[in-house]
Amino acid sequence: MAELLDGVAVRAWVGGFALAFRAASAELDELDRQSGDGDFGSNLLRAIDRVEGELEDAPGAAPVEVFATLSKAFMHAGGTSGPLFGVWFREFARASAEAGGLDREGLARAVSGGLAAVVGLGHAQPGDKTMVDAIAPAADALARAATAPRELSADLSDAAAAARAGADATTDLIARRGRASYVGEVSRGVRDPGADAVAMFFEAGSRTLPHERPDQ
Ligand code: ADP
Ligand code: MG
Repeated sequence: MAELLDGVAVRAWVGGFALAFRAASAELDELDRQSGDGDFGSNLLRAIDRVEGELEDAPGAAPVEVFATLSKAFMHAGGTSGPLFGVWFREFARASAEAGGLDREGLARAVSGGLAAVVGLGHAQPGDKTMVDAIAPAADALARAATAPRELSADLSDAAAAARAGADATTDLIARRGRASYVGEVSRGVRDPGADAVAMFFEAGSRTLPHERPDQ
């Protein structure tokens, strides 16, 4: 039977992301301050607080509900990135709704659908120094892995590595979207906080998911 992330697994993923985001929020503010206005971490931390509160009140939430809670909270966070993360997480809710959880195919669909939704809303392309620079390589990694018979955890760790490499590579780019584009050359040398947050999301998934040990 195909491996399916259930409500418990998805909560652990989202909880791990919340922890990581909280720990990094001051650093994310600082990255945004160096090329934008400095509100990225603290603004989205309000959404994270809201997610944690709502999930605490819904211990038996299904995967679709967990991701929908995440999507709505970010949607309400405002700023430029709030709604962009809102539409990104909405695709995870959609993909989980159909199968009753998230399987390998659903994960790939969520990430490619999420990429399309973010590009549809923000019109950024790879290389513009935005969250798209982390999402697009993750989508590519999942598409490449699609036909290989393997565990969902392997997909997630590949997506995390690809997103992290993409986020790191934003350091050398000049921003062409969002507030960071106003400062032009000054944005070079600063990692994009939105791309960093996307990498953190996949890393949290990869970290919290039990990795199968086929040799045991
Ligand atoms: P602002 O303070 O300008 O409203 P935020 O601080 O909320 O914006 O978010 C900044 C992040 O949003 C950036 O790091 C970048 O990843 C992302 N971003 C900005 N514009 C776009 C866009 N058009 N498409 C995709 N992502 C974007
Ligand atoms: Mg900002």
